[in-house]
Amino acid sequence: MAVQCTIFTHKDCLLHDTGEGHPEQIARLVVILEALKKPQFKNLVWQEAPKADIEDLCRAHSVEYVREMLQAAPASGYRALDSDTIISPKSIESALRSAGAVVAAVDDVLTGKTKTAFCAVRPPGHHATKYRAMGFCIFNNLAVGGLHAVRVHGLKRVAIVDFDVHHGNGTADIIDGHPEFLFISTHQHPFYPHTGDPLTTGKLGNIVNVPLQSGDGSGEFRQAYAEKILPALNAFKPELVLVSAGFDAHKDDPLAGLRLTEDDYAWVTGELKKVADKHCEGRIVSALEGGYNLEALAASVAAHVGALMPC
Ligand SMILES: [Zn+2]
Repeated sequence: MAVQCTIFTHKDCLLHDTGEGHPEQIARLVVILEALKKPQFKNLVWQEAPKADIEDLCRAHSVEYVREMLQAAPASGYRALDSDTIISPKSIESALRSAGAVVAAVDDVLTGKTKTAFCAVRPPGHHATKYRAMGFCIFNNLAVGGLHAVRVHGLKRVAIVDFDVHHGNGTADIIDGHPEFLFISTHQHPFYPHTGDPLTTGKLGNIVNVPLQSGDGSGEFRQAYAEKILPALNAFKPELVLVSAGFDAHKDDPLAGLRLTEDDYAWVTGELKKVADKHCEGRIVSALEGGYNLEALAASVAAHVGALMPC
C-alpha cells in the first residue's frame, strides 16, 4: 500500500539565518519539526529533500537570476536581496533544498510512492518572481515543482491554491501565460505585496484572486472557498493539487490582520483533499510559506498535516 503522507525536509533549511529579530526565523522550522514528531504523527514517512537542479529552477526563473542567486550568498554576515529578504552564507543551500523538496514531493506523489506530501522548508517561495527575490522568498518552490510536473511528467492541469495571508504574486507572475495552471489565492487586501486584485485574472484568465479584508475570519474564509474556490477547482479537474501553505492568516499572527484558527486550516485542507480525491487520486503536494507566531504556526501545521493524513 502506498504511503499516505510524506514530510520532505532537510537540516540545511535550518541554516538560513536571516538575522536578529527577523520574523522568518530558524525557530519556525524547529517548532514545526517538533510538532510533527509527536505520537499522533507516527505514521508519517520522512524524506530528505534533495537540492533542486538548475534545469528545474530555470523553468520558473530566468537563467540570469538563477546564476545570480547561486553566487549571492555572502562569505560572512548578511546581505539584503530586498528590504526584507536577508541572506547569509548558507541561505542558498537552504533555498536549493526548499525548491528541491517540492520537486521530489511532486515526483513521489505522481509516481504513487505517497498520496500526499508536506514540504517543511524555508525560505518560503510564493513572492519570488521570475526575475527577483522578494518578501523572504528566493526561489518559487511551488512554481518550480509545478513546472516540473508539467514539463517532466506531462501534466496538463495543475492547480496551485495559496492560503497564505499575502498574495502569491511571484507564483501568479510565473504561471501567467501557462495554460496548464490554475492559480487561486485568498489573501488580505489591500496589503503587502499590493497585488491580487480580483479583476486581475492573468493573460489566460487562469488566475483567481479572492481578497479578504483585515478583520475577516473563519466565516468569510470558508464562504470564499464554498462559493468561489471549490467550484473553480472542481470545474478545472486538476491532475495535481499544489498548496502554498502559509499560516500567517492566523488570528495570532503578528504580521497581518485576518482571524483564522487551526480549525480553519484543518477544514480547508480537508476540502482540498476532497477535490484531490475526486479528480486526481488524492494527489496533493503542500509547501510551507508564511506563519510568524511560533505557537500558532506549529499548531496550524499540525492541523494541516493531520488533515492530509487518513483518518
Ligand atoms: Zn505570508
